[in-house]
Amino acid sequence: MKIRDLIIIGAGPAGMSAGIYAARSALSPLIIESQMPGGQVALTDFIENYPAFPNGMSGQELTKLMEEQCNNFNVEFMNFIQVDFVEKENKIFKLKTNQGDFFAKTVIVATGASPAELGIPGEREFKGRGVSYCATCDGPLFKDKDILVVGGGDSAVQEAIYLSKFVSSLKIVHRRDKLRARKMLQEKAIKNPKIDILWNSNLLEIKGKDLVERVVIFNNKTNQKREIRIDGVFMYVGFKPSSSLVRNLVEMDKLGRIITDHKMRTSTTGLFAAGDVRNTPLRQVVTAVSDGAIAAISAEEYLEYELKQ
Ligand SMILES: Cc1cc2nc3c(=O)[nH]c(=O)nc-3n(C[C@H](O)[C@H](O)[C@H](O)COP(=O)(O)OP(=O)(O)OC[C@H]3O[C@@H](n4cnc5c(N)ncnc54)[C@H](O)[C@@H]3O)c2cc1C
Repeated sequence: MKIRDLIIIGAGPAGMSAGIYAARSALSPLIIESQMPGGQVALTDFIENYPAFPNGMSGQELTKLMEEQCNNFNVEFMNFIQVDFVEKENKIFKLKTNQGDFFAKTVIVATGASPAELGIPGEREFKGRGVSYCATCDGPLFKDKDILVVGGGDSAVQEAIYLSKFVSSLKIVHRRDKLRARKMLQEKAIKNPKIDILWNSNLLEIKGKDLVERVVIFNNKTNQKREIRIDGVFMYVGFKPSSSLVRNLVEMDKLGRIITDHKMRTSTTGLFAAGDVRNTPLRQVVTAVSDGAIAAISAEEYLEYELKQ
């Protein structure tokens, strides 16, 4: 049984930043990732607010640079391993995965978040057959098609602008009379000739045969329902933290986000959380990498001072 000093769960920006800082502190970190490194960034078309890149860059490009920097410091990655559960016994953490158990003296949970479902009829049935949660992955499949984007926040509007490059027409369905997205994004969307915003509207149902063909929209001001023809639906209705693997171990808020202090310490000694999975006031790349750095340094302090007592 090999007991590592530090295992980081998740290779998004928080996990990779923790990896870089931990490797520079000679902790020989292992990052376990259920897919490929990158997290939500790898699914993002374009990032223009991450400092030091004045012209912005694609999410894929930023992922590649972070991975390269990890490799330069010999951070070890194990991809396509899903951590199902974390337990602690006699000061040692056991990570139960789909490929056996891993053991570590300290763990950083950097598992981020995944898109929330709207929970309407047809959504699950047509997932991958017209219903998507990732514009970067699926946008090109909707060339010259008519699509719907659900949501009114930054992600919804930003991805709608990106999707408008491919599609023939795009409707944003938003349940209120104002978008929540940043002003700059709102202005870009409103000016875009391909984008039409359906205000005060809820998506009620997705219909079709093999693929999405129609949707039912409800106007919550006029109380009228109507059916429109559509080829695809992109959902941006929030995110849920990927925290279930430590549900019996740490305190969480009512949305399931892990509660930490300013050193990224959770309620279990030796277990740290970083990035979108924790109760952070801002979920962005810049905050995730900052959390990851703090978590790594806190893990080092724990190994150095607390664990030995
Ligand atoms: C459409 C979209 C647009 C965005 N645009 C911007 C932007 O312009 N600027 C910006 O700063 N931010 C943007 N963000 C937000 C940004 O991507 C996130 O804040 C950031 O990726 C969070 O990093 P993270 O490392 O905490 O989590 P994530 O990026 O979610 O990474 C978590 C990683 O953990 C892995 N994982 C999860 N559970 C397990 C498990 N049980 N076992 C093993 N691995 C696991 C996941 O596969 C994933 O790779 C955007 C997000 C989206 C979705």
